[in-house]
Amino acid sequence: MQFNLTEDQQAIVAAIEKICARFDDAYWLERDREGGFPHELHRTLADAGWLGIAMSPEYGGAGLGMTEAALMMRTISGSGAGLSGASAVHMNIFGLNPVQVFGSEAQKQRFLPPLIAGRDKACFAVTEPDAGLDTTHLKTQAVREGDHYVLSGRKIWISTAQVANKMLIIARTTPLDRVQKPTDGLSLFYTDLDRTRVEVREIEKMGRKAVDSNMLFIDNLRVPEEDRIGEEGQGFHYLLHGLNPERILIAAEAVGLGQAALARATSYAKERVVFGRPIGQNQAIQHPLAQAWMALEAANLMVMKAATLYDAGEPCGAEANAAKYLAAEAAFQSCQTAIATLGGMGYAKEYHVERYLRESMIPRLAPVSPQLILCFIAEKVLGLPKSY
Ligand SMILES: Cc1cc2nc3c(=O)[nH]c(=O)nc-3n(C[C@H](O)[C@H](O)[C@H](O)COP(=O)(O)OP(=O)(O)OC[C@H]3O[C@@H](n4cnc5c(N)ncnc54)[C@H](O)[C@@H]3O)c2cc1C
Repeated sequence: MQFNLTEDQQAIVAAIEKICARFDDAYWLERDREGGFPHELHRTLADAGWLGIAMSPEYGGAGLGMTEAALMMRTISGSGAGLSGASAVHMNIFGLNPVQVFGSEAQKQRFLPPLIAGRDKACFAVTEPDAGLDTTHLKTQAVREGDHYVLSGRKIWISTAQVANKMLIIARTTPLDRVQKPTDGLSLFYTDLDRTRVEVREIEKMGRKAVDSNMLFIDNLRVPEEDRIGEEGQGFHYLLHGLNPERILIAAEAVGLGQAALARATSYAKERVVFGRPIGQNQAIQHPLAQAWMALEAANLMVMKAATLYDAGEPCGAEANAAKYLAAEAAFQSCQTAIATLGGMGYAKEYHVERYLRESMIPRLAPVSPQLILCFIAEKVLGLPKSY
């Protein structure tokens, strides 16, 4: 068991901190007010080669593991960029995992280098309005016509679709009533986001204004067969493969967000003097901050355990889910505590913690809800009957 970062890992954290220092609080405050994708951060990370951190060197990646990717994402979020920064590159880091693992050599050559170089931006289209967390009941259909498929349906909450030129999308190729298991008959495609066939309508939302989330209305989108990843009908199984890395990364981002909030609250508590002494001298201020630190540290250990298991090729479903749950809750508590510590100023935009709180709801809700994680742990770890 090793709890210290290696020299290389420390160097990754330092390099990302240096890049993020160029994007200060004023930058993120403006993005939060005005919206607008943080293209500058995306471009800077791409130019320095960071978008391919966990991709194979044959395609321009750095060939590092999920542990290093998690450190990178925690550092971006923890810099104060929060989810506004992390979500701008999140999809690049984990999203094409199914292509890397299940794609053909030609697909990897075609798809991975432009994504790593930042020339392509991809979105990830799974969630549907009428299916929610019950993914196997999604309604988007892909009908085969000769050497291509025709896709129609609706997706919801698809992040970065305003700026993406590519999408990884799951659709049903065999109707639900003609498959043995509901997880069969779904296929995965990585294809062009053709705006003549896909209407992208932004959803006005609570936070992370810089990184859009959208409804997609897909109307007879032609997708060539060579854009199908792996075998027809196996898409759900390929998607599952990428779920653990996604949970690990969003958990790392949540830890970073919580740490950013805690750092602001702690420094404010040292300086703000009321009743003739710093408010941080009061235990009622100290204790919630100490609790936030402990919860974030514990969540971080679970993130690192899950990432280490993943990198070793070992099962990590329980740990990745637990990490996502613990980190999201710890981040939320930390952000809430930060607002309480700053008092009225916690509610003012210029102190940033209210933005962090709004952003901390994202890892609580997505990509899977806390309730469903508890159901998963109850079933898969504790052996209780499946409840959903
Ligand atoms: C900011 C943001 C960005 C997102 N980005 C993307 C994206 O890029 N791509 C994408 O595909 N999706 C994205 N999502 C969607 C996200 O993954 C879903 O919102 C999430 O999976 C929950 O699905 P739902 O909203 O349909 O909830 P529902 O399935 O409608 O569930 C609603 C509530 O009911 C609970 N519930 C349902 N069934 C049960 C049960 N059996 N037992 C206990 N509780 C239950 C859930 O836990 C949840 O609390 C994003 C969401 C947000 C908010």
